[in-house]
Amino acid sequence: MRLRTRLAIAFTLLAVVPLAVVVPPTLSRLRVTLSRELDARMEAAITSAQESLERSSATASRAVEELVDSPAMEDLAREARESPTRAIKAGTAEGLMKSRGLTVLALFDNNGTVLSSGHLPARRGDPDPALFAVTRQKSPKPVPVRVEVRTPSGLRPLPALVTARPVDYGDLRLWAVGGVLLDEGLAQHLARLTQAQVSLMSGDTELASAGEAEPPTLERTLPLGEAASVRFVFSRAAANEAEQGVMRAFLLLAGLGGAFAVLLGLLVARWMTRPVEALTEGARRVAEGALDAQVAVEASGEVGELVRTFNRMTGELKATTERLVASERIAAWQEVARRLAHEIKNPLTPIRMSLETLLAAQEARHPRFPEMFKESAGVVLEEVDRLRRIVDEFSRFARMPKPQLASVDMGELVQSVLSLYAAPPEGIQILPALQTGVVAKVDRDQLTQVLVNLVKNAEEAMKEKGGALRVRVKGTEADAIIEVEDSGPGIPPEHRARIFEPYFTTKEGGTGLGLAIAARILQEHGGKLDVGGEPGQGARFIVVLPRAEGLGPTRLRAE
Ligand code: ADP
Repeated sequence: MRLRTRLAIAFTLLAVVPLAVVVPPTLSRLRVTLSRELDARMEAAITSAQESLERSSATASRAVEELVDSPAMEDLAREARESPTRAIKAGTAEGLMKSRGLTVLALFDNNGTVLSSGHLPARRGDPDPALFAVTRQKSPKPVPVRVEVRTPSGLRPLPALVTARPVDYGDLRLWAVGGVLLDEGLAQHLARLTQAQVSLMSGDTELASAGEAEPPTLERTLPLGEAASVRFVFSRAAANEAEQGVMRAFLLLAGLGGAFAVLLGLLVARWMTRPVEALTEGARRVAEGALDAQVAVEASGEVGELVRTFNRMTGELKATTERLVASERIAAWQEVARRLAHEIKNPLTPIRMSLETLLAAQEARHPRFPEMFKESAGVVLEEVDRLRRIVDEFSRFARMPKPQLASVDMGELVQSVLSLYAAPPEGIQILPALQTGVVAKVDRDQLTQVLVNLVKNAEEAMKEKGGALRVRVKGTEADAIIEVEDSGPGIPPEHRARIFEPYFTTKEGGTGLGLAIAARILQEHGGKLDVGGEPGQGARFIVVLPRAEGLGPTRLRAE
């Protein structure tokens, strides 16, 4: 991974990790706080609902009290003493009920028979045991009971808070039982008060309901004796929304922070790594051969010093290398000249000696002169031939023709070279492993010369003891590779650097030009010749050529 990327990632982590650490606990704390707040709000709402219920029951209680103590009631009781049914008519209770702001009122005789009912006039003359039972409860406060009332959908028991008071006149005792119905109106009032959905329940039956609660919701129940209960449904939506709002804000913050950090990281990383990248690029160029590569980048401090040093170094490197190459070339040619001179000198001695012998023989009028002449002429011709061979080889080495490139399948080429060795020398086994389809652009004749040379060397190396000659062709993505490996004595380390030099030979009668020419041919092809193998276990020569695309049909026709 590039330095710049790594720096950018580090900056991003630096920005995002603290957020990631802080956000979850903050959110859970917020959640707890919000739900605690909601709990408190619900408790408060229920308390105020309870107070409101108590207030209305107190009001109802007072109203019944006042009614019982009113002169009108006293008059009614007096009249009723003479004739109850005449004094108390069907509509009496309703009038009294409405004038006192009550929603339930029944007047009973002491036996529990309804004399008049405000909330259910039809009950007159019948007993109402459920409501009359209140008279036996000594509670000063209204008690919750179920009261039957007429509704558009027929008779229905509705919960009510009622209280009972006796009305005594002499020996007559009447009962006034009155209070308030827990009806739609109350539900609406409680819903407004608590901001919740309020249902008045009788057991599991919902009698009245008001208000709305958006889901998700929470429920609380306020029991009102056995007769009824009030169910409050509170919405959690607002709390959830608040939580989500905070969450969104945090995420936005994290996103923005992250993006900002990445941007900043990239900028800083760019600023910091630009000189380093330029230096890396410069070093790469130097490695590729641009020895005088200069790095043009502004930098201060140690990096700036490094850049200046690099530039100075490469500046000197080119000049030094050029000097070195020039002197190496001179040295190489001097060596070549020295050896060539040596090679030429060798035949000159026998030529001179032959001629001297002839001259002496002629002077002395040697009787065998004609035979001697023939013999010496043979020697001279042989040595002259040798001289010509030396000069031919040298000129071949000195000015090699430019390669005529064509796409050649290496496997096929090696096969054709090996076919020259259909009958290898005694004791030598040829083992080819040739991959086909490995194609390179080569001069067929020159490459044949290289391979012939390598195979010849390998055979010569195994001449004494025999062995196996392994020839492989294989391809990597970029290269075509030919390996020629023998099981001969191998190349001692001290010779390794020298075997490619012209005229280096360890063989009687060797020219020492074979490998030098092979290396040069491969160099001209943009490839190289490497040597491997362990000394004592054989030598391995590796031909590496740039691989060309496969032999397409058009290419075949073009050639
Ligand atoms: P020549 O074969 O005329 O000596 P080359 O340039 O072909 O010239 O070889 C140079 C030298 O490299 C050889 O004299 C020999 O010492 C060494 N050499 C080349 N091939 C092999 C091989 N397969 N095994 C061992 N030595 C080798």
